[in-house]
Amino acid sequence: MDRINYALEGLVFDIQRFSVNDGPGIRTIVFLNGCPLRCEWCSNPESQLLRPVVMFNELECIHCKACLSVCKQGAISPENKALIDYSKCVGCGECSLVCPVDALVMKGRKMTIEQVVKELKKDGTNYRRSGGGLTISGGEPLMQHEFTKELLKAAHAQGWNTAIETTACASEEVIRDVLPHVDLALADVKNMDAQVHKQYTGVSNEQILSGIQLISQITNICVRVPVIPGFNDKKEDIKRIAQFAKTLNQEHLKGVNLLPYHSLGENKYKMLGRDYLLHGVKMIEKEDISVLKDVVEQSGVNCRIG
Ligand code: SF4
Ligand code: SF4
Repeated sequence: MDRINYALEGLVFDIQRFSVNDGPGIRTIVFLNGCPLRCEWCSNPESQLLRPVVMFNELECIHCKACLSVCKQGAISPENKALIDYSKCVGCGECSLVCPVDALVMKGRKMTIEQVVKELKKDGTNYRRSGGGLTISGGEPLMQHEFTKELLKAAHAQGWNTAIETTACASEEVIRDVLPHVDLALADVKNMDAQVHKQYTGVSNEQILSGIQLISQITNICVRVPVIPGFNDKKEDIKRIAQFAKTLNQEHLKGVNLLPYHSLGENKYKMLGRDYLLHGVKMIEKEDISVLKDVVEQSGVNCRIG
């Protein structure tokens, strides 16, 4: 077996235990910083940069002004809409250290593989009993591909199941290096139209679609579709995605999951001084998502909602 570099550091912005929706059994999700996409509906906008970010919770602030004097970038001022001018902020975290309440919270901290595995071991018994394990998410885990690979190897060394949630927006070399260590890839297909994809996510879909093709040759794959009103909620949009799913390696394809749009991340945009572009967009009705599920199934592909 390959040696594992337990001292390797990565940038982790969250660890969530007891997940049952992101792969088989009971799982822990390790969220990594960095993403090449900028999806308008992203529910983890704090994950997008490949560095720590500070979030400002206005409701907690007691206006003591302790943060103002420590910022060497001059990024903090009561004049700023969200206290922090993010065009100047470099994510050093000094302000969060002096804040006497939890109004300034850093997202993203360096952790070694050893430290993450120590966290995961708390649920080792649950993984073994339920067939669960580790899911690496983000952001895009393949942006920190060396760290992702070492963490997957470390999980396998413990006998745990491994999964990643990926945009598949990565080079062929990276996919070939990391995916052999993954038991299940949960890969997003957002829209088959390259121009529409670019308009709503900031990148075209060519590399993503070829990345997903490649992943399906290497390991088990579940195609996930975040269904977003006005972006990909028409029958024709979903039919094209189902037809694409049929071109994947059918031995590895576990089906298509339709994930109805939600606006749970909206408040985070405010905490990052950003506008939420989908403000006011309504949730998708249950009946409408069932119709889309039928469209996938009529194409001969298994489909699940959620
Ligand atoms: S994280 Fe650093 S640069 Fe950003 S606002 Fe706080 S002190 Fe200033
Ligand atoms: S240090 Fe914290 S509580 Fe004080 S003004 Fe800054 S954000 Fe508000």
